[in-house]
Amino acid sequence: MRGAVIHAPGDVRFEQLAEPKIEQPADAIIRTVATCVCGSDLWPYRGLEPIGDPHPMGHEYVGVVEEVGSEVTAVKPGQFVVGSFATSDNTCANCRNGWQSNCLHREFMSTCQAEHVRIPNAQGTLVATPEHPDAGFVPGLLAVSDVMGTGWYAALAAEVKPGSTAVVVGDGAVGLCGVIAAKELGAERIIAMSRHESRQKLATEFGATDIVTERGDEGVAAIKDRTGGIGADAVLECVGTAESMRQALRSARPGGNVGFVGVPHDVRIAGDELFFSHVGLRGGPAPVRRYLPDLIDRVLSGRIDPGRVFDLTLPLEQVAEGYRAMDERRAIKALLTP
Ligand SMILES: [Zn+2]
Repeated sequence: MRGAVIHAPGDVRFEQLAEPKIEQPADAIIRTVATCVCGSDLWPYRGLEPIGDPHPMGHEYVGVVEEVGSEVTAVKPGQFVVGSFATSDNTCANCRNGWQSNCLHREFMSTCQAEHVRIPNAQGTLVATPEHPDAGFVPGLLAVSDVMGTGWYAALAAEVKPGSTAVVVGDGAVGLCGVIAAKELGAERIIAMSRHESRQKLATEFGATDIVTERGDEGVAAIKDRTGGIGADAVLECVGTAESMRQALRSARPGGNVGFVGVPHDVRIAGDELFFSHVGLRGGPAPVRRYLPDLIDRVLSGRIDPGRVFDLTLPLEQVAEGYRAMDERRAIKALLTP
């Protein structure tokens, strides 16, 4: 089979790879129906994270089960499945508490931009749809496997409540899905911080009521102007840089909360500033598995359409172009089909 391999910054190749096999009784093998390039894949692609030896890439997937290990009864060959980027047994103490992305047996997926994928912990990780979905639902279901699940967690971590005011920092796919989540959770005012016209338009269609283009001190002032001078109830940090985290913390009101889901790069939080702000902070890799049944249902019922964040669709063999288009911000998110 073939898949994406990163060799060096800016160098992703579509190559022949070993066919994945069942290695553990809880594994499954899926035939990929759709996968994609994540904003976090751009960190190594841009040379901002070490790459080491050439290795496969990708952690988002929907597919059809081809084979299951002896312990897997939750899904069977032929079913269409959605899973999370973090695998989980869904039975350990952390999973039972709802923190499947911190499963005691967690493995992070990292080989999904390929024609076939081995899914560890398949029993607890994969969720089958009631039937094979129409092609039009595939992008939305793929979004659920990471960016929509992550945006959902960001909104819950920021404690978005009915009637609240939410700020979304970041207009990438996760930020845009964060707008969907804030709307679904009942935020009355949703302020999207974005400087890109096409993303502002999509944010507005997803439910953003205000767009703020300023950043830094001016960005904080623009948020305070719209929130009675105190800041927002809930802030979703969906980037992961020092500036975006600072923006998020300063945009929340005393007693408000920041949910941070951008993988932090060189983020340092001043203890004294956090102490005196009265802002609550929770983040991390989203426990997407907890939300999968609900989010799959919201997509298949047509209530939400997070698949619209994919504004570029390519054959999987053109995966390198997917990386380039996202790196150059010509695309929000690239969907790849084998
Ligand atoms: Zn677990």
